[in-house]
Amino acid sequence: MEPKEAALLSSILHLPAGITITSVHPSATDLVVRVVCCSWSMPCPECHQLSDRIHSNYQRTVSDLPCAGRNVILVLTVRKFVCTTPTCSHKIFTERLVGLVESYGRMTSRLIALVQALGLGAGGQMGTRLADRTAIATTPSTLLRHLMQLPTPPTPAVRVLGVDDFAWKKRFTYGTILVDLERRKIIDVLADRESATVETWLKAHPEVEIVSRDRGKEFAKAATLGAPQARQVVDRFHLVKNLSEVLQQILGHCRAEIRLGEAPSSEVEQPAEEPTGPLPTTATWQQRTPAHVKKAHQARQASRDDRYEQMTALRAQGLTQREVAKRMGMSERAVRTWLKRGAAPTNERHVRRRSVFDPYAAYVLQRWQAGVHEAKQLYEEIQAQGFSGTVRIVQRFVQALRDDPEKITLAPATAADRFSSRTASWLFIRDPKQLSTQKQAELELICQRSETARKTYALTQQFMSMLRLRRGQQFETWLAAVEASQIPELRRFAQGLLKDKSAVVAGLTLSYSNGPVEAQVHKLKLVKRSMFGRAKLPLLRQRLLHAA
Ligand SMILES: [Zn+2]
Repeated sequence: MEPKEAALLSSILHLPAGITITSVHPSATDLVVRVVCCSWSMPCPECHQLSDRIHSNYQRTVSDLPCAGRNVILVLTVRKFVCTTPTCSHKIFTERLVGLVESYGRMTSRLIALVQALGLGAGGQMGTRLADRTAIATTPSTLLRHLMQLPTPPTPAVRVLGVDDFAWKKRFTYGTILVDLERRKIIDVLADRESATVETWLKAHPEVEIVSRDRGKEFAKAATLGAPQARQVVDRFHLVKNLSEVLQQILGHCRAEIRLGEAPSSEVEQPAEEPTGPLPTTATWQQRTPAHVKKAHQARQASRDDRYEQMTALRAQGLTQREVAKRMGMSERAVRTWLKRGAAPTNERHVRRRSVFDPYAAYVLQRWQAGVHEAKQLYEEIQAQGFSGTVRIVQRFVQALRDDPEKITLAPATAADRFSSRTASWLFIRDPKQLSTQKQAELELICQRSETARKTYALTQQFMSMLRLRRGQQFETWLAAVEASQIPELRRFAQGLLKDKSAVVAGLTLSYSNGPVEAQVHKLKLVKRSMFGRAKLPLLRQRLLHAA
């Protein structure tokens, strides 16, 4: 190859100085580039004496960054030198290709850096697929190995620390996530949520001034022992969440009162949790979904419900919709829609449209069970009741029953039509000014029907306004009002708060909040999910800390 041509190619491939291309062999998929090192002498790694006595040479193949969709393979001629210092223990040494490739590496350093970036951003499986698209041949395990070789970034000094747990495997194993609340970044992930583990971490970080935590005993103990210098704050997110759980219990108990009489609007209806009872008057029918599909749906729904609760809790703390969207990594529009709806979106709407047949499904099913199996007769019966659809719809329903009656289930019309104590609890917590007229009416109805609900609502709003306006000094007054209310669940909640009083009052007064931790826990879950169950702690930690 002409020297001029070689120099041009070398500059195109951006090879380090001192490395010369001797030939290039393009094929459809590869670009094989033969290179040599052109320095006359090399320093011995032991005695640093330059040597120009070549002992032998051998060939090494390494992959380099792809070039225009082709996999680039460098065939390096590597020389061995004889050390000329008589006293040196290194008789023979191999030349180093500093900056290009490590001693035993099969990829150039710059290719490894790219693969690591793909792995950090997209995880093992997806990273490998992306690599493939850019003509980099790698496997998930190679990619993960390179990812693990990255040095962990040093933990910066943290002043305000948020501690929370997260589920590795729900209800089985948990880990701890540590967030710098000022920078809003994950600073570490610990393998469990034991008090001792967190305590050890805290002892290594005496700079921590404030620990924001949940109301659990473990983290309180860890903070007391591991960071005695720090002020403990119960984060508002957990306060709101705990309160919502208490509200669910209370509302669950007065559900019967709330359901007395017919609802003027169809909003408050059949309780979703009630397993038996008369068939709902308005029902949708659907073929039962296979268990694994259902399980996946439920998991996704649970995750959406969590997101909704988190969003409501943040909003109830006084954050604007824009701030909530930013913290949760969602679009402002989605936040607005969810809050307006008063619940997380469900799959139902996408899976199945409402049908004119829905209001008659329960009747037809009863008639079927009573032995009427003729579609035409059933059609005429419901037509007399006002059914406006075709006979075809009834035939399809009857056919589905014939195929497998077990597969037909009746469900209350929509999630929004049910009275669910869980949904209602969030209605209680939200700032009434932010509720739609419809939701306000729903709330009013609940409070009209049940005296307990009415009292509970007043106390909830007192608590929430204290929390929103950071008026921790009103805590005592609120406690007294709860005591006087005679609502056992609320009194238990208040007594629990009293046990952790200084941290609770700090949480109601200071501006720190674990909202960011919750957002980071969500991020962690997303990263975990993208790793298809290979999310071992070191790997997860590596991805999260480098991403931060
Ligand atoms: Zn030497």
